[in-house]
Amino acid sequence: MSEPILVTGGKVYDQDGDVHHPASADILIVDGLIAAVRPGIAEAIRRGAPVPELSGRTIGRTIDASGRLVIPGFVNAHYHSHDVLLKGCFETIPLELWLLSALPPAFPKRSKAELRARTLLGAVECLRSGITTVQDLATVFPYDEEHVDTMLQAYDDVGIRCIFALQIADVPGAKSIPFWEETVPEDMRKGLSGAVEPFPGPKSLIDTVTDLTTSRMGRHRRISWALGPSSPERCSEGLLRDLADLSAKHRLPVYTHVYESKAMTLIARQTHAKYGGSLIDFLDKCRLLNPRMNMAHSVWMLPEEIRKIADRNANVVLNPVGNLKTRSGVAPIRQYVDAGVNVGLGCDNCSCSDCQNMFQSMKMFASLAAITDIEPGPPTAANAFYAATVAGARGAGMQDRLGQIKPGFAADFSIIDLNDPSFVPLNSAVRQLVFTEAGRSVETVIVDGKIVVENRKVVSIDEAALYAEAAELAKGLMKDLEGIQTRLAKMLPYLAEAHRKTWAQDVGLHRYIAR
Ligand SMILES: [Zn+2]
Repeated sequence: MSEPILVTGGKVYDQDGDVHHPASADILIVDGLIAAVRPGIAEAIRRGAPVPELSGRTIGRTIDASGRLVIPGFVNAHYHSHDVLLKGCFETIPLELWLLSALPPAFPKRSKAELRARTLLGAVECLRSGITTVQDLATVFPYDEEHVDTMLQAYDDVGIRCIFALQIADVPGAKSIPFWEETVPEDMRKGLSGAVEPFPGPKSLIDTVTDLTTSRMGRHRRISWALGPSSPERCSEGLLRDLADLSAKHRLPVYTHVYESKAMTLIARQTHAKYGGSLIDFLDKCRLLNPRMNMAHSVWMLPEEIRKIADRNANVVLNPVGNLKTRSGVAPIRQYVDAGVNVGLGCDNCSCSDCQNMFQSMKMFASLAAITDIEPGPPTAANAFYAATVAGARGAGMQDRLGQIKPGFAADFSIIDLNDPSFVPLNSAVRQLVFTEAGRSVETVIVDGKIVVENRKVVSIDEAALYAEAAELAKGLMKDLEGIQTRLAKMLPYLAEAHRKTWAQDVGLHRYIAR
């Protein structure tokens, strides 16, 4: 391991302390962990006084954080690296139209170079805005184990922490969207695809996932594994029960999409009538509604379903920016907070949100009450910051290691420059982090005790070379996208009709304001 690092004199954010005016302390990092957080460590070393946590070792690097704020690294609890190169390609289109344009099943197989570049680029964007852990629910389609290894190596090289899950489904995408098959003419139907499609192979899907996951556990120090059923309605009951067993056996978190849009809610009512049309009851019957379950989006959730999630200690991961860009509606944030549900935050895809920035997600999380709740109250700025750090860690079962700057936790944190208009005057650290800062002040980022961002640049890889390569590789991707959009243009009137039919249905709740 590298030599110990000492971060001196910064105001250290502590959710259990004064979140408005955090106290100053020195932070000692030894072997990737926070060994001590208290004032006077630098002074003790200068005087030659003993610092027991150093165990006789010498400091390799000292970072002066005076005039700065030190905050825990954000946990981006819902993210997909597969469309990083498609940021800025789309206007605010409905989710079901967007997924036909942006997701891997619509595209020809990509090169390893493109996979590496996009994985690195997404990680760089995360790191530069203070995200130290990313949950990548990655679609690798067509499936190729070497492509998975390419992505894992990219994560390892750039130095971010990653909870990796392969996104899978065994129900064809066209069957999981209401009215698509009956509305789109037969000769165009093969162009209908979902977030991921079932992939044929020599092994069953569950064996493929089991072998991939178990053979790579522990291979990369900062990469842990999770399971990624795309969404309950895109998976058979048998597959979900097998995943529940695999999750229980290896204590693996599970990440999935639940009720992201009205269409996803309507299809549940139609196809899961046996479970009262409730995906929560369906997941519960499949033994997946437990503390390892993380349900991304959860926009169209009924009150009784929220109570059940709270009862089972399952987790919800909200993605407010992406939900707005895909016209999916606004999640019942206050109801989750009031019910005591653990709510993490994500930034979702690069082509539907379109940025990896937890400051934006936190601000949305705290602000969307404007259109859902007339009574003042939570979520507060501190609730939003908790969601972006501790709650995401808890969903991954890592609440004892990630999300706080405390002895024994992983040394994953960011140093924020307070000499910035966002923080002058410093009236409340937590409110200015949530409502004022946009990511501009993230100066230094440390992950696993290593400096990965310094002076606002990623130092683990050559950023400039990556940008040049990604821009070059994007040319081929844009050509493929053009072909997809030409094909979609012919289908659009039918897709729009399916979309309108969906919106005319009653699913028992509203999550939007419309004329
Ligand atoms: Zn997603």
